[in-house]
This record gives sequence, structure tokens and C-alpha cells, in this order.
Amino acid sequence: MLPNKIVAVGRNYADHAAELGNQVPEVPLTFFKPSTSVIGPTENIAYPPFSSDVQYEAELAVVIGRMCRDVPRERVPEVIFGYTCANDVTARDVQQREGQWARAKGFDTSCPLGPWIETDLDPADLAVTCTVNGELRQAGRTSQMVRSVADLIVHITEAMTLLPGDVVLTGTPAGVGPLAVGDEVAVSIEGIGTLSNRVVKRG
Ligand code: ZN
Repeated sequence: MLPNKIVAVGRNYADHAAELGNQVPEVPLTFFKPSTSVIGPTENIAYPPFSSDVQYEAELAVVIGRMCRDVPRERVPEVIFGYTCANDVTARDVQQREGQWARAKGFDTSCPLGPWIETDLDPADLAVTCTVNGELRQAGRTSQMVRSVADLIVHITEAMTLLPGDVVLTGTPAGVGPLAVGDEVAVSIEGIGTLSNRVVKRG
């Protein structure tokens, strides 16, 4: 089943904001990825023809379990079903060129999720890593997030209803970089597992 929506958060790790020359925003920077961008583990990332700089972003994904709005901080655990790995695949050149991020972060196959949902997990301090062809590219910890999972759920549900199956992406640590056709990119999160996808030319 596809999520109704994916709400993602930009620049939620200070070291990643800095590497792209950005400040940590005063309020969380939110954007959507469409349901049609989702692929599962072992499915391929199709390199879009309108970009020449597609990049990986390893992220902790939160899967919502209950319809909710205006969630108070102390009730956040009640609305979370579990956690999985995400790759917020981004056409960096398009993101910089177009201002709005809909195409840059919303193209088909730009949201690998998986490999499964871990329901019994404390998200406070987990290792988040990304490898490309087995080489380590990102190594952060969720404790470095500027806003915690609870902060983000409170902030997002102030504005909108989240539905069961909706996904919240919590930002990426430093070390983002390019992918090429043929690469195997793997996101691993401590306590969850590894999400691995191959990059192919769009057919
Ligand atoms: Zn991201």
C-alpha cells in the first residue's frame, strides 16, 4: 500500500546544512514527496533524464499508525506505528535551479523505503549510514537531529492531518553526494536494517 503522503524535513542536521552552504532554518523546512515516488527494497532508482546530479540522502523514516492532528508532544508515541530506512533521492541541480523542490525530490523512484517497519525502537540515538558500492559516504546519528522526531510530528500536525501509512522523513546527515547509473546505494539504520537499491537509466 502506498502512503497517502510523505512529509519530509530539510536541513535537520547542522553538519549537512553547512556542507551545502545553508543555515539551519529557524523553523523546520518541510516539503512533500508524492506517493508515486515510493519504491521498495530491491527496486531500482531510475535516473531522470532532466538531471545530471542525482544524489543520495540517508534518512530515518517514521511511519504513522493513526489518523492524527494537533498531536501534543506527550502523545506522539501513540501515533507512530514504526520506523524504517529512507533514501530521499534528490536531483541536486534541479533543486538549485528551480527553487521549488517538487521535481527535484518528487520524481518517480526518488523515495526508496524499507526493508521493513520496525515497531519496537527508540529513535533518539541511532546510527544512520549510507554506502555507495560498499564505500561509506554518510555516517551520522539521529541524536544530531536539530529537531527530534517528536518535535517534527508536533510541528507537522499543527498544520495537517496525518493518516495511517503516511511517512515522515527526518532529514539527512552530512556526506551527501552523487549517484551514477550502475551504482548500488544502501541506507542502514541501527536497529532497523539495510535498504539497498540499484541506480538504472530510466527506460
Ligand atoms: Zn532529505
